[in-house]
Order: sequence, then structure tokens, then C-alpha cells
Amino acid sequence: MDPRPTAGASGHPGFNTRAIHAGQEPDSLTGSVAVPIYQTSTYKQDGVGGLRGGYEYSRSANPTRTALEECLAALEGGARGLAFASGLAAEDTLFRAICVPGDHVLLPDDAYGGTFRLVARVLARWGLEYTPVAMHEPAAVAAAMRPNTKLVWVETPTNPLLNIADVAALAEIAHAQQAKLVVDNTFASPYLQQPLALGADAVVHSTTKYLGGHSDVVGGAVITADPELGGEIAFHQNAMGAISGPFDAWLVLRGIKTLGVRMDRHCDNAERIVEFLSSHPAVSRVLYPGLTSHPNHSVAKGQMRRFGGMISFRHRGGEEAALKVCGLTSVFTLGESLGGVESLIEHPGRMTHASVAGSPLEVPADLIRLSVGIEDIADLIADLTTALA
Ligand SMILES: *Cc1c(COP(=O)(O)O)cnc(C)c1O
Repeated sequence: MDPRPTAGASGHPGFNTRAIHAGQEPDSLTGSVAVPIYQTSTYKQDGVGGLRGGYEYSRSANPTRTALEECLAALEGGARGLAFASGLAAEDTLFRAICVPGDHVLLPDDAYGGTFRLVARVLARWGLEYTPVAMHEPAAVAAAMRPNTKLVWVETPTNPLLNIADVAALAEIAHAQQAKLVVDNTFASPYLQQPLALGADAVVHSTTKYLGGHSDVVGGAVITADPELGGEIAFHQNAMGAISGPFDAWLVLRGIKTLGVRMDRHCDNAERIVEFLSSHPAVSRVLYPGLTSHPNHSVAKGQMRRFGGMISFRHRGGEEAALKVCGLTSVFTLGESLGGVESLIEHPGRMTHASVAGSPLEVPADLIRLSVGIEDIADLIADLTTALA
């Protein structure tokens, strides 16, 4: 089922081994196997400037956050990982580290609503120019590049339309004009897709989602391919201050240990639900990159291990019917967010994507989005059967 192995024994630890051990040596003082939560703001110096282990103040660095940052870098195959207070804090810091006022960025025309809002309503006021573009069409991206384009922002799969962008092709387009390619890898997680290996310069995560995985923490991350860009973002992280606190960092680190097994179960369950929805009379269309009918299935197959736990579908009965379904499930919880162990259902047009209504990013009103959890598949299918009846 899984076309690519996660493990490579000879010298390079496999994905799951890195998830459990990277950055997480047992504590040198006590042998504690779990990384301690260093709930401290400051550190005793042995004489002025005499730092033990380089720590002086927890906005600049904290050992629990360092463990998470090293683990994130190891999972994405990057030079540097940085952990933030939220996905959007990570994004804001990254945009300001790469761009200056007057620069131009390209965004997916179905970008995560919060990303679009950050760019269109906050960074635009600061002087950033932007163009939404269909990232799944490389020719459209090449045509939208301007001399001042500094950054191409990609999501794949996208939220909530599950479009797939060809990361390697976009890296080539961006680099031809010395622009950086950044991939928001939140939907796939590093277990399913590793954009840096495909040519991206940086990866962004809302660790709130699959990396944390238990709907109990809000966090974000940036991982860079090269140490220089990593250093630039680290400077901005310290200067802007939107860091992950030690307890939040610890929760994400704990979630990451089971990322591989969780993702496999998310994918198993999603595949069964896609099958169920595809033959359901109330469903006019299922959006899932694993379907051979998906317009970019072959690209997805080339760059993803499996196709993830997110599914969107359109209801034949239009908006009213879609809203009704969202209110009739009982195992699927009606709620925003995604990527946790529990299944969620939502209506993007009225919920996660309400802020883009009337913009080029508006989503169809009959669309329902599922974040498929890791409950028993029979219960999930029974729940959808009832809600769609
Ligand atoms: C949730 C999400 C974000 C924003 O992350 P927060 O942790 O909520 O700030 C960004 N991108 C995608 C794809 C998301 O799903």
C-alpha cells in the first residue's frame, strides 16, 4: 500500500525513528526519557556572559522549544526548524523575513482563508503586493510572476478544494526569477510529503493540525532548506517574538511521536469514506487527490506517500442540504480546524472560509469538508449514512 519506505537503516534513521528521537536525547541530568518542560523565562549565568548551553532568555531560545525545532528539521529534511505560537504567527514572521514593502507574492487562489486575510488585510497595508493564482496550473504561475516577485506561496493539497500543485515545477519557476518557494505542508504533514526534497526553500506548518494531532494546542512552524534563510527567520522570530511557549512546544513534540501511525490510519479511513461517498446518490462530486479522477492525481502520486485524511464533497441538494448534513452527524463533530484524532465536519462557505466570501477565493456553497479522524471506520460510515439519508 505504501509505495515508499519510511526507514533506511544503514546510517540514516527512518521517519518514525526521527519522530521519536530527533532532538530528544534523554535528559543529561536525570535520564528523563520525555523532554522536560523548561517552564522558565531566564537562565542563571556563571559570570557575565557565562551561558550554560547557550540559553539566556526564553524568547530567544528555550530547551523544550529547541527539542521540537530540531525534531521538525529532521522530519522535513531541513537545515533549521523554528517553532511559533501559531501557524499564522509562523507565516507572518516568514513573510516579513523574506519580503520588504514593495515586493510581490503569489498565493493560491484557494489559499487557507487565514493566510489570504493576513496577506490581503495586514501585509498589504504594510506595502506587500499580491496576486492570487491557480497554483495547480504551472503556466498560470509563470505568467503571474513579476520582476518584484519575491515569494511564491503554495499549499498542496489545498484547503478546502484539495487541489494539487506540482512542487518541483513551481520551484523551477520561482527560482528562475530568484524568488523563494514556500510550501504550507499542513494538510499533508511531513509523513506524506517532503517539499524541501522537491526544491522548496521553506515549509510552513500549522502544528495545531496533524503534527500536534490531538486538538489540544495551537502552534506553528517554519523549516528551511538552508541555514542562511533559517538564520534570517530566527532573527525575525526573536525580534518579533511570536514564539511557541515551552508547554505548547512539548505538546507538539508529544503529538509528533505518533504522527506516522496516525497518518496511516487517517489515510486508511479516508480511503474508505471516499469510496462510500463516491457511490452515494446525494453526492455530486468527491474531491480527494487519491481518486484517479482527480485532475492532478498523477502529480499527487509522484510527490505524496499517500493522500491524507482531508476530503471535501459537494451535495446535490445545494447549500441548504449541505448545511443540514453538517448538523446531523454525531461521531463527526461540527467544528473548524482539522488533523486531530477525532473526525470533524464543517461547511467551509459559512465557517473556515467565510472571511473570503466575495473574493476570488470564495468556495462553493454546497461544499462540505471532512477531517477524517482515527475512530473505527464502521462508526464513521454509519454516521455519514444517517446524515446523508
Ligand atoms: C490552520 C491552518 C493555518 C493557520 O494555522 P493556525 O495554527 O490556526 O494559526 C495555515 N494553513 C493551513 C493550511 C491551515 O489549515
